[in-house]
Amino acid sequence: MHTVSIQGSPEKIPVGKIVCVGRNYAEHAKEMKSDIPESPVIFLKPSTAIIANGGRVLIPSISKDVHHEVEMTVLIGEGGKNIPRDRALKHVAGYGIGLDMTLRDVQAEAKKKSLPWTLSKGFDTSAPLSEFVPASSIEDPHNLNVALSVNGSVRQQSNTRHFIFKVDHLIAFISQVISLERGDVLYTGTPEGVAQVVSGDKLEARLTNPEGNVLAVLSVSVG
Ligand code: MG
Repeated sequence: MHTVSIQGSPEKIPVGKIVCVGRNYAEHAKEMKSDIPESPVIFLKPSTAIIANGGRVLIPSISKDVHHEVEMTVLIGEGGKNIPRDRALKHVAGYGIGLDMTLRDVQAEAKKKSLPWTLSKGFDTSAPLSEFVPASSIEDPHNLNVALSVNGSVRQQSNTRHFIFKVDHLIAFISQVISLERGDVLYTGTPEGVAQVVSGDKLEARLTNPEGNVLAVLSVSVG
């Protein structure tokens, strides 16, 4: 069973499902030559995809082109169905940083054939996740910096103020159709700058507040 934790708490919280948002930054939609969606694009990763800080991403043999996507993550603390938008943030236990590792060649082939993205997005090790910072300590989840460096060079850098769909909107939207439970994790979409990683690369993702203080760090290598 894959578990996550909140900084300062000894509790190991089992992860149920991982609900991911595609295209939540206009600049990333543009680089993928995709339209800006009118409603959130949602897909799932299995909890078996999770690796923790210090882990290793293993590229499956079906792919020759794995990409990084750095994303703010959201840990659901209190579950619900049809959660109203004005109460949605009360259901969040913590915020963190994650990588939505993607087999871009496998995904492109699936897109071409209008087939699901499951293998390209849900392979083992495709969901590196940091520890979560308690939601109570975050003043505004829509003003946090997300950044990724690969081998020490910055590859992705943005701020959650650029979200097309904010966290409260996502929780309300998803929970109309899929019940959310304690321990579910949301990946909130990646900004522009996605690119290939190869064996031996070292990735470091950070979530920082507007003052530049580090809230969560995630370091993984590619095996
Ligand atoms: Mg993504």
